[in-house]
Amino acid sequence: MSKQDVEKKVSELLDRHGITSAPIPVERIAQAEGIPIVEMHFKSEVSGALIRSNGVSGIAVNAAQHQNRKRFTIAHELAHFLFEHKGLDEDHIDWKFTVIRRDGKSSEASDVQEIEANSFAASLLMPVQFLRADLNDQVGFSGEAELDDSQIKSLARKYRVSEMALRYRLANLGLISPA
Ligand SMILES: [Zn+2]
Repeated sequence: MSKQDVEKKVSELLDRHGITSAPIPVERIAQAEGIPIVEMHFKSEVSGALIRSNGVSGIAVNAAQHQNRKRFTIAHELAHFLFEHKGLDEDHIDWKFTVIRRDGKSSEASDVQEIEANSFAASLLMPVQFLRADLNDQVGFSGEAELDDSQIKSLARKYRVSEMALRYRLANLGLISPA
């Protein structure tokens, strides 16, 4: 799936759920898509999992992680579910977002899926059209914005994402110059 396809999927999802501003209610979206969320006590290295048993799906997130991290995890697992990623008919555990299969192997295909899930998560939590509007309001954005640390901090707080995730997303979209 191309970057544009991922952005398109996100925009459809936001439309379907009538979401027009940040922060994105990612838990509510997942639940409305029929995927309940549970918090679990995982090892610290495990971010979350997409549970699939007997035709029932659910997202498990590591209860100990920061709220922003949990939101990213939910969005990542939601991508695996919505994109019907292959090889995920079993429970899928994300170990710092590197897939661990029961046989302990990783494969090219699953790596592509992990990248896709991360890209979907960033796009869903920080939709491009919302970022553009906010940059325009806050710094009179036209083209590439110069943001100082306090502006990054306040935007990250608004979107409920980490500052690192926000910087990465903005640079990826060409809205700020890469650090
Ligand atoms: Zn994953």
